[in-house]
Amino acid sequence: MANSIQKSEIKLSGISASPGICIGKAYLVDREGVDVIKRYRIPQADVQNEINRFKTAVKQAKTELNDIIANTPEGLQQHSDILQTHVVLLEDKMIFDRTVETINKDYVNAEWALKLVTSNVKSMFQNISDPYLKDRAGDIVQVSDRIMAHLVGVNSVRIADIDKRVILVAYDLSPAQTSQINLERIKGFVTVRGGITSHTSIIARTLGIPAVQGIGDATTRIQTDEIIIVDGSDGSVVLNPSEKTLVAYEERQHRFESFRASIARTSHRPAETRDGHRIKVMGNIEMPEQVVSVIDNGGEGIGLYRTEFQYLSRSQFPNEDELFDKYQDVVEVMQSAPVTIRTLDINGDKAIQNSNRTETNPALGLRAIRYCLQRPDVFQTQLKAILRASFFGDVRVLFPMISTYDELMASKAALQQTMADLDQAGIPFKHDVAVGVMIEVPSLAIMADMIAPEVDFFSIGTNDLIQYSMAVDRSNKDVAQLYNPLHPAILRMLKIVSDAAKKHATPLFMCGEMAGDPFNLPILLGLGIDELSMNPQTIPMAKNVIRALALSETQPFLEEVLKQTTAGEVENLTREAFGDIIDKAFSPE
Ligand code: PEP
Ligand code: MG
Repeated sequence: MANSIQKSEIKLSGISASPGICIGKAYLVDREGVDVIKRYRIPQADVQNEINRFKTAVKQAKTELNDIIANTPEGLQQHSDILQTHVVLLEDKMIFDRTVETINKDYVNAEWALKLVTSNVKSMFQNISDPYLKDRAGDIVQVSDRIMAHLVGVNSVRIADIDKRVILVAYDLSPAQTSQINLERIKGFVTVRGGITSHTSIIARTLGIPAVQGIGDATTRIQTDEIIIVDGSDGSVVLNPSEKTLVAYEERQHRFESFRASIARTSHRPAETRDGHRIKVMGNIEMPEQVVSVIDNGGEGIGLYRTEFQYLSRSQFPNEDELFDKYQDVVEVMQSAPVTIRTLDINGDKAIQNSNRTETNPALGLRAIRYCLQRPDVFQTQLKAILRASFFGDVRVLFPMISTYDELMASKAALQQTMADLDQAGIPFKHDVAVGVMIEVPSLAIMADMIAPEVDFFSIGTNDLIQYSMAVDRSNKDVAQLYNPLHPAILRMLKIVSDAAKKHATPLFMCGEMAGDPFNLPILLGLGIDELSMNPQTIPMAKNVIRALALSETQPFLEEVLKQTTAGEVENLTREAFGDIIDKAFSPE
């Protein structure tokens, strides 16, 4: 069936970008062709012509993007924002001005100048260890590729014109290309570039089509019309599948689809344990357009709105109105459901473009609230925007990286001052907006009982809590084996926080990645966490696992867990006690 001369089966491994399985003919949409750029010298007299040639290419790219935005199908309208970002990036100083400057100064051809500028900007972004920000380099490259295509006269393949049922295989797919995907035709996709937080994978998950990214040699090993299998759940692609493999994957595909349908049917129901205990399951977002995914997956609110993205890839910070517009959008879409807006968490591994800081140890440096308290102008601008948005729904304010009582009091004082300013200006806002603190620095976890009376809720950020407790850089793969939420030191710290929350009746939430792994749920329920916030796609699975558990069994289980000495022992104990329940509720296998 696959090939008349059966080649041997090959399995390529990449990153799981969107779960699910698809089987079908590959369709190669592009190669990295435009990357082969020659450098040549431009006579001084022709420099202006060369600059004009570049400007024309930018203009053409803009027209092309605006056309795509205008023709984006209804259901994908939310992605227009991403494309709008690309329109803005087209004329961003980082690319536009610097390319013009390079042509002017070095007398080189526009293609070479653009390539040089892009690779500098790209490496600047890639030195940031935060994977989300790193992926933003992808936006710059895509914008540059688009201009380059016009400069060298290469037309990118129009995905919308594909008229067969295929699996796309590409070096990269831009959000613009991805948003042209017609679900009737495109079964899934495989790309060389990309990662779990890239826009392309965000869109694939929103569309619900299987996708694998990070397959280094996808475009060289896979050919158009070859039958391939894409397993977006484990991040693999099978080439030249045997009949036996095809049958096995068809069965898995069928099981996955009926499992997904059954989960989707229940995802809007509350997550209630077998013994009637209700846990709220919320979504984490970085950009307003992700709100749709939270709602579609049955999220009961936004447990964490990371606000850094808006401050990125621009030379000036956003003003109050720009921030307010985005916050208001999110709050209005969520209607009466809670929207937890976290104040700016920049620096550390999320260095911003207009910060010239060089810190020896940025994770321990002037990050998040520390930065905001030193820059009251930046802080107040954001607080004003958040408070103004609070008028339209159920907004909560969340302060990140607080490590001392004094910092918390200073942050609250800044909020009070902002409230007074708004009152004076007659601008409406919700005076009793809930104010919470991230528990993500060990010092605060340990003194949680002293902090509790000062806040309306705790939100545990395990990503940083683990990093700072275990002295392990959360983005360094070489020490990744030490980064384990089930380490007894972490669990003990969580117990301290949970006891303090109980003592003071402080609502206890968790928004770190630990909350999004269903394997951790028996422990989190045992700790009495009231609300869990996670990647929107995980919400239905988490709800499913919660429904299979009983709170009364997780409490004695937690006591046993706290007696263990290693993370491995905790894992074994969890598997013994709840392995079957979790497996059944979490996967179709
Ligand atoms: C955390 O630290 O757990 C958290 C949720 O915040 P971020 O990942 O944005 O640092
Ligand atoms: Mg954090």
